Amino acid sequence: MKNEKSLKIYEEAIEYIPGGVNSPVRAFRSVGLDPVFIDRAHGSRIWDVDGNEYIDYICSWGPLMLGHSPKEIVEGIEEIVAKGTSYGVPTAIEVEMAKIIVEAYPAIDQVRMVNSGTEATMSALRVARAYTKRNKILKFEGCYHGHSDALLVKSGSGTITYGVPTSPGVPEDVVKDTLVCKYNDLDEVRAIFKEQGNEIAAVIVETVSGNMGVVPGTQEFLQLLRDITKEYGTVLIFDEVITGFRLNYSSSVGYFGIKPDMACFGKIIGAGLPVGAYGGTKEIMSMVSPVGPVYQAGTLSGNPLAMYMGKKNLEILRDNPQIYKNLEEKATRLEKGLKSNVEKLGLNYTVNRAGSLVCLFFAEGPINNYDDVTKCDVTKFNKYFAELLKRGILLAPTQFEAMFLSNAHTNEDIDYTINACYEALKAAH
Ligand code: PLP
Repeated sequence: MKNEKSLKIYEEAIEYIPGGVNSPVRAFRSVGLDPVFIDRAHGSRIWDVDGNEYIDYICSWGPLMLGHSPKEIVEGIEEIVAKGTSYGVPTAIEVEMAKIIVEAYPAIDQVRMVNSGTEATMSALRVARAYTKRNKILKFEGCYHGHSDALLVKSGSGTITYGVPTSPGVPEDVVKDTLVCKYNDLDEVRAIFKEQGNEIAAVIVETVSGNMGVVPGTQEFLQLLRDITKEYGTVLIFDEVITGFRLNYSSSVGYFGIKPDMACFGKIIGAGLPVGAYGGTKEIMSMVSPVGPVYQAGTLSGNPLAMYMGKKNLEILRDNPQIYKNLEEKATRLEKGLKSNVEKLGLNYTVNRAGSLVCLFFAEGPINNYDDVTKCDVTKFNKYFAELLKRGILLAPTQFEAMFLSNAHTNEDIDYTINACYEALKAAH
């Protein structure tokens, strides 16, 4: 594998950018390699600056349901740019976008656009706290809700990879109201509500955690969260930044049949441009400025380019339900293939899947929470990652993330991937 050009850029990058990257897990440091720098991507494929081609399972960490730069979404963008890139004054497309999200998501009446998933969860919590006039919040170990201070506690994603689930720099005072329970642990939830339920403003949860590999919430766990929050007057927030419009078009509400009070979105609603959104019932959202007193703002919120791309993405998903069926079939094919590889090689590893999110854990199952996930043999995973890269497969460079499938991945891509995974697993052991 050639990597001279990537290495050259990386040497300069580390001079000017911490770790040479603008988000930690991109560094490949966790897998003991130097990062590849990307030149271009199309469909399921991505090419680095040295000309190496990969089947891409990072897919920008989730936004690209239709693969890279789908013609139906990117065409017309020049016309939008020609009309101006940002106004700071409202546009009709923001209303159209809000309407699409609200119509798709059966639990919310109103939505406010922001610029990232981090902003969405941070803002939703502020609103929930003001609405309930309470301070405490409950999150779950291994779930990642972005990098705002109050939520960077026993977190997931890169924080597990780099061993800092609770980040230095977050003052103790700021997180004293952040309570944490084990994911999928009904007893812990019951106990904490018994003790402090009347003080808890919000429960925030990934219905399927895509930030400690792939760990689906059980139906009983999510139903308990719904019931207990109702009982105690606590706001239930589904963080749908990964799951939103991925599990199916009505997101976790359709997938699990449970309605939260608020929901946060990102990734797919921007189709690869920087976007986030949070929404809730009319009563809750009427707390938000300028209707209510809770201040939340954004220079680029509702940016016309992001709205244009995101709206097209959602319209295509809405009008083509077959896409979800295709994705389910392809993900099932991948899941079966990975399981069969593991069996053939006599390994005791586990494959978790929810919709088009797939993860091969280098540990024995069942994998239901953070403790289970951290039993994985990371050293073996790292070798596997490197072997896959050589074979033209790009995974997230850490055991603790999902494989993201897109509708652009073909059955041939999946079959090639299954074979490459077999060879890589064999080489790593
Ligand atoms: N919530 C979840 C579930 C996420 O997976 C992420 C990012 O991966 C975020 C929030 C934060 O989103 P962003 O990276 O856009 O700030």
